[in-house]
Amino acid sequence: MNFLTVFRNITLIDGTGREPIINAAVAVREGKIIYAGKARHWQPSYEEDVINLDYAGKYLLPGLIDTHVHLSGSGEPDSQFKTDAGSMTLKILNNARRNLAAGITTVRDLGGWNELEFAVRRSIQRGEFSGSRLMLAGRFISITESGADHYEGMYRIADGVEEVRKAAREQIKHGADLIKLGVTGAVLVEDGVPGATHFNADEIRAAVEEAAKFNKRVAAHAHGIDGIRKAVRAGVHSIEHGTFLHQGPDVIEEMSKRGTFLVPTLKAGWDVINGDTPQVPRWIVEKSIPIQGDSVKSLRLANEAGVPIAMGSDAGTPLNRHGENGLEVYWMQQAGMKPMDALVSSTSLAAKVLGWDSQLGSVEENKIADFWVVDENPLDDLRRLADKKLIRAVFLDGKLAACQPTDSYPKAILAKDCLSVMN
Ligand SMILES: [Zn+2]
Repeated sequence: MNFLTVFRNITLIDGTGREPIINAAVAVREGKIIYAGKARHWQPSYEEDVINLDYAGKYLLPGLIDTHVHLSGSGEPDSQFKTDAGSMTLKILNNARRNLAAGITTVRDLGGWNELEFAVRRSIQRGEFSGSRLMLAGRFISITESGADHYEGMYRIADGVEEVRKAAREQIKHGADLIKLGVTGAVLVEDGVPGATHFNADEIRAAVEEAAKFNKRVAAHAHGIDGIRKAVRAGVHSIEHGTFLHQGPDVIEEMSKRGTFLVPTLKAGWDVINGDTPQVPRWIVEKSIPIQGDSVKSLRLANEAGVPIAMGSDAGTPLNRHGENGLEVYWMQQAGMKPMDALVSSTSLAAKVLGWDSQLGSVEENKIADFWVVDENPLDDLRRLADKKLIRAVFLDGKLAACQPTDSYPKAILAKDCLSVMN
């Protein structure tokens, strides 16, 4: 079916960092954006059928890209993701749907569960269910440590260069788009020491080399400065968390020079600290509180030094629920980023860390039509990005993937499995 969908009377926030364009129009044909800009410069074609969608007074922006989530977690207060395989598969699918319904059209999963996320992705790709576009790392590759017992289906233990190579190859065999490496200890492992380096430089290099053979990237979980330094020098593409990065001005400089991304994941810490629930184990609260200031400081310094920043909420961690990921953008602003810069970190820059920037991340001609429409300007208050009442509609591949349950749309533009934004 060849028809045009034209989004009219919108204010366009295109995700590139450009000033919003008022009185804009966006035109979509077969899932691709063929026009985005001032309405008066739009030349309609008279040869094809047109579906006009009037969004007077509303804002259209690229779907958010969350570069760090765990679909296998739903914000369980005790961080116990574990359940039987059937329930886990449904949990992963449900979380992919919740993200999409909330305007997060792409998520990068950095630690799945028993390869079930690949089955979920195949099902979404076949069109059986709606869900966010998924970039998957498969398992979290780690040295021998107790995290593997706590998150049994998520970890792949590998010690030494040869095992790291094999572990990376396994993930790629399962369909991984990138490799996730646990370079330091973790907060959400009871006896984990976030500052402690786990992998040696040669092991990290082996992962980067192995990934590069298959044109894949490496995302390094790293809190401590020694681990961050080793990972950056080994050529990883992103530092996840980067809590103690502020302790190494030389590392900040190197990241800026190399273009190594920082994914700060502030929301994970804030949700535990502000959560006020007795269900969160004491050790999680006690480990989270003292280091939140470090995370904030590291983001501020990295941003000032020109390190590229990408939004990652770490959704799945205690009380950090899928669909509220947009709040990470707000926390990034609170840590010192300008509202537009924080938004770009969640759109075009986030697409860049994925390597999907030629297709995604902005509302521009020739990109895939993944975007959403919201009732109020998110740049005036970034918390609006996570306010379901304000989400009008979410489009994936140019099809209506989610909308307010009270709104009605022409059948031709509906996704087969159209969701409610209140999901
Ligand atoms: Zn994580």
